[in-house]
Parts: sequence; C-alpha cells; structure tokens
Amino acid sequence: MPISRPEQPVFRFAPSPNGFLHLGHALSAIINHDIAADSGGRFLLRIEDIDRTRCRPEFEAAILDDLAWLELEWEEPVRRQSDHLDLYASALEHLKAMRLVYPSAMTRGEIRAAVAASEAKGSAWPRDPDGTPLYPGRERGFRPDDQAAILASGRPYAWRLDMEEAVKRAGGSLSWQEKGFRGSGEYSQIADPAAWGDVVLSRSDAPSSYHLSVVVDDAVQGVTHIVRGRDLYHATSVHRLLQRLLELPEPVYHHHRLILGPDGRKLSKSNRDTGIAAFRAAGHGPADIRAMVLGEQ
Ligand code: GLU
Repeated sequence: MPISRPEQPVFRFAPSPNGFLHLGHALSAIINHDIAADSGGRFLLRIEDIDRTRCRPEFEAAILDDLAWLELEWEEPVRRQSDHLDLYASALEHLKAMRLVYPSAMTRGEIRAAVAASEAKGSAWPRDPDGTPLYPGRERGFRPDDQAAILASGRPYAWRLDMEEAVKRAGGSLSWQEKGFRGSGEYSQIADPAAWGDVVLSRSDAPSSYHLSVVVDDAVQGVTHIVRGRDLYHATSVHRLLQRLLELPEPVYHHHRLILGPDGRKLSKSNRDTGIAAFRAAGHGPADIRAMVLGEQ
C-alpha cells in the first residue's frame, strides 16, 4: 500500500454493497475523487460489507463497474471490511477492558413494550437523531456473572457502549471540524454522542457495527478528510467519541447535501429510476452524471 506523505490528504469513498449505486453515491464518489485529485491527495475505495445478511458480491461487482464507468480512479487494493474482522474485534476488546461496553439482550419487541409502557405514563421516550427510541439500558451495570449468563444463553445479544460512562471517560470538549464544499465556510461542531444512547458496537450475528469499523478503518487507512452525505452528519458525534476513546487521529469532515428523489425523499438503493445503471441504460454518459450531481452544488 503506498505510504502517504505526512501532509498529503487522504480521501475515501466507502459504499456498502447492499444495493446498486444511485446519484447520491455518484456525488460522494465524484467529490472525494475530484478533491483528492485537485489537492494532490489519495483517493481510496473501501467496501463496507460487515452486514453479511444484506451485502452481496454481485452488488460489489456492480459498484466497481459503475465507478469505473464514471471514470473514477482509485488506489488498489480495495479494502474490504469483511477481511478485517479481527481488527474490529480487538477494538471491541479494548473497550471491554475499559469497561465501557456491556452485553445487552432485549429483543425489538421488548424494547417497544418498555418504551410504550413508559410513554403510557405520560413522558415521551428519548429518540436518537434518526428517530429510533434509545435503548432502555436494562443490562447496563450488570455484574460479570450476569453478563456471562447473557453470553452463554444462546439467545442473540449485542455489545453496546455505556454512553454515559463513555462520554465521562472521553473528557470534555468533543467536537469536529466541518468544512464547506472545497474548503469554504469551515466551522467547529460540538459533538453530542449522548443523543444516540447506548449504541450497538457488535452483535452475536454481526461481529462489528458500522460505527466501530468505520472509525478503525479510517484510522488504519490514514484517512484525513471524510466526505460523505449529510445523512451521516449526526453519526459523526459517535465517531468522534470512539476516536477519542480508542486514541485514533481526528479527521476533518465535509457532509455534502443529499440528492432527493422526485418525491422529495432521500434516494434509496431500491429506487431503480435514480440508479446509475438506469442512466447508463438510457444512453447517458459519465459527463451527464457529473453535470446532474454537481450542477446544483
Ligand atoms: N458505508 C456507508 C454507506 O454506504 C458510508 C460510510 C461513510 O462514508 O462513513 O452509507
């Protein structure tokens, strides 16, 4: 793997192969690629295929094919998260040793029931920035033998971050530098990881979560600039917390606007009309896609 010069910026595009690329992905990939090229930086591609139930090799092949068709060039080898599970496992072990994670076993139904019971008494249950109710934290503070019983029960479980303790341990002033497009309009954003509650870092059926693997990989790959869609803006709070706890370097961030579908909603991988493949099939070229996604920037 080429070694970066210390001052050389490193960018990455990190799609999950759980569907086909759409215009929003094209925007992310093109911005990362172009800023890297303009700044003498490196452009890396990472396949985020931790979720084995949703990721498929044919999606990965289609992603590589669409990116090549868009005339983007990236460094080889492409990093595949499923090749590095041991690395995420050791980051989790580190957090276990710090006593910042706990095994949790409430099912979705149990969480729903706990939230409904509490809301029936009149107080709104806190929700994360995506609108999901925070985990009730039933097993937070369990003693080691009760934790061992969860792990030995044969039932599905998840390792969750004890958010309150983690925020305390991280110390004060957690923030990130948010850059504007092409460096203009930079500001410092205070991170608020507590808004997410006790996030999942690994599950019995998926060895690492997005949050854990993304911070480990960005550090291992020396990524200095994280450019991705605004849908991940608030997740950056969790990433900054994990970076602090795991003593990983702090990248700068740019969260670009999202491309919305005709219905005004965020594009989804299942929406065939805005898939890159549909534009290719309709006879558009890579320059047309560039104009479509960059035009309104
Ligand atoms: N794999 C994530 C996705 O496809 C993107 C992760 C990131 O850019 O941090 O949504």
